[in-house]
Amino acid sequence: MPLLSEAGTLDAAGIEAWLREADEKRLEHLWEAADRVRSERVGEAVHLRGLVEVSNYCVRSCAYCGIAACAGPLPRYRLSHEEILACAREARRYGFGTVVLQSGEDPGLTRRFISDVVAEIHHDLGLAITLSLGERDDEDLKAWREAGADRYLLRFETTDPALYAAIHPGLPGKVSDRIAQLVRMREMGYEVGTGVMVGIPGQTWATLARDIDTFRQFDMDMIGIGPYLPDPRTPLAGPLGTQLQAPPGEQVPNDEVTTLKAVALTRLVCPDTNIPSTTALSILDPGGGRRNGLTRGANVVMPNLTPPHYRQLYRIYPGKAAVHESVETLTENVLGLIAALGRTVGKGPGGREKRVT
Ligand code: SAH
Repeated sequence: MPLLSEAGTLDAAGIEAWLREADEKRLEHLWEAADRVRSERVGEAVHLRGLVEVSNYCVRSCAYCGIAACAGPLPRYRLSHEEILACAREARRYGFGTVVLQSGEDPGLTRRFISDVVAEIHHDLGLAITLSLGERDDEDLKAWREAGADRYLLRFETTDPALYAAIHPGLPGKVSDRIAQLVRMREMGYEVGTGVMVGIPGQTWATLARDIDTFRQFDMDMIGIGPYLPDPRTPLAGPLGTQLQAPPGEQVPNDEVTTLKAVALTRLVCPDTNIPSTTALSILDPGGGRRNGLTRGANVVMPNLTPPHYRQLYRIYPGKAAVHESVETLTENVLGLIAALGRTVGKGPGGREKRVT
């Protein structure tokens, strides 16, 4: 078993060995190392990002996603300029340093519309702005950066090209290369974030290890990792999933401990990156998922600020909405958890700080 004290030298094979580790005693070393590196490299601050799900329209047919065009009938919505601004004001009222605007891939969110929203949040509210609007043209991305957007989240979902093609069908005339888009966005001056789901059918231990090694290779600024939560209305939850399933012993399970191993190993190989304790993790384990993420490498939480009647329509996976949890309750719970862990609430925009060690 590769030594964790030499985490800097963990290669894909070493990562895979730790992902496969099932011995609880040995895993304690992994949890301890991830928490220590988190504390040494990004400190005790937990950064809060207010999530605003601005539209559930989507032109894509991602086989895993509950708001994909192919996922069956679903009422569609798109927030107005004023509705988005109202959410951003809430973020500021709660003291969050950042808003994250996320959506399906929606051409109805035009270059101009997003530029205006971003500029107003940037100038009038002074919040950092993260966009997560899918694969967009460089001209859109440049305009939004100029308008004041700071960061962009685009998970590459898997480094296995055949699996990616199976779960993420292309659009006519468009090449889908998310890693290439991430690299271009970094050149435009964005902080860039990516990530994967844990346990999608067809994901092997070796694939997931390569995914984590790729986070390091591209020196990603933010990395989101959550369990895959099958939505019965999507192809991946049906025959496609069965067909893609890797052989027993090779298929990664979509459970909490495996997700936590992926989070912990990501912290070790990308020590100063920002890593959220994801909503998907807290849905899998409502009692402890968020806490377990924060104590095994994560340093970010993204409370949902989407108005509740829209939130229940942004159902990328089942149970996601936490529909009945108001932002007040959620924020109170998160603040209580941060205090109970002896951590502090991050102040300011909470961008990536590369510390010299
Ligand atoms: N349209 C944007 C935002 C997608 S939602 C984009 O494609 O980037 C953000 C992330 O949720 C996705 O990147 C995916 O990794 C995750 N997700 C989607 N469906 C999921 C599911 N069924 N279970 C768990 N995570 C899911």
